[in-house]
Amino acid sequence: MWNIVGHEWAVGLLAQSIAEGNVSHAYLFTGPAHIGKTTLALEFAAALNCIGSEVPCGDCLACRKIAVGTHPDVRLISGEGKAIGIEKVRQIQHEAILSPFEGRWRVHILSDFQDATPEAANCLLKTLEEPPKHEVLLLTVPEADLLLPTVVSRCQVVVLRRLPIAVIAETLQTRWKVHAADASLLARLSGGRLGWAIAAAGDSSILEKRKQYLDQLMKLLQVQGVHRWPYAKELCKTPGTLKGVLDLWSTWWRDMLLLKLECPAQVTNSDRRDDMMQAVKLFDPLEIRMALQSTRNAREQLERNANAQLALEVLFLDYPLLRNDHK
Ligand SMILES: [Zn+2]
Repeated sequence: MWNIVGHEWAVGLLAQSIAEGNVSHAYLFTGPAHIGKTTLALEFAAALNCIGSEVPCGDCLACRKIAVGTHPDVRLISGEGKAIGIEKVRQIQHEAILSPFEGRWRVHILSDFQDATPEAANCLLKTLEEPPKHEVLLLTVPEADLLLPTVVSRCQVVVLRRLPIAVIAETLQTRWKVHAADASLLARLSGGRLGWAIAAAGDSSILEKRKQYLDQLMKLLQVQGVHRWPYAKELCKTPGTLKGVLDLWSTWWRDMLLLKLECPAQVTNSDRRDDMMQAVKLFDPLEIRMALQSTRNAREQLERNANAQLALEVLFLDYPLLRNDHK
């Protein structure tokens, strides 16, 4: 039994490739952060090496070792905040030519491979072009076009989509024992990413930070021009959080648009509805649309490794002014 919530299409495809003895040497899992790419890759690694009757059984020695990260043939490699370098890829290539120690397959999972150095990506091509017999490479990235086309074309691409909000709310309640009201809010805020919802349910600092970033947006909208730039500088002190902040602000602007269109039931940040109802009166629809588009553009630029402070400064100049005195 695959221990995966949702992603039925992807699970079906992977299970079928094992059942038919038609396993590819490389798969590329794509989808937004915290959607479950690495979780699915690990479950696939378990299915490939499981010695139980219904793979992955979750109970045999192989499954249990993979779950706790001690299986000698399954390795999860990430940059741990830094880019995956060529030395890690060379190490994989050394290991990949050896027969598996315990399992049927050697599996290397390279998460967030878009952050690998160009040398590392080029080096991996050699393994993709001439894959060793028992090796399966599993790469994860937010979007396939962040990788070299030569890398993507040698992988079977498995696209993971956001889960329905109702599925996440129900999973939080039944599996994680989260109260119904909290589960409903977290499911909305997760944007269909179960991993985010589970993390936020177990760590109150995630919601606390979200509150801080929304408050920060309110403050910066109340000043004009270069007075917004200190906010950009402040945000750039924690570069690892920037993409998440822009994703959050995108949901806020999208909510504003929904309120303008009088669709309050679809609002994501439902706990901030009263604040947003106040703010929405002060903007016209075009201002909101432009702010949403500019936020998405800045997010896209960060994904392409643009200069973060410059991208934020340009974004902040595009944001409309929230006139306090009209309140
Ligand atoms: Zn098993």
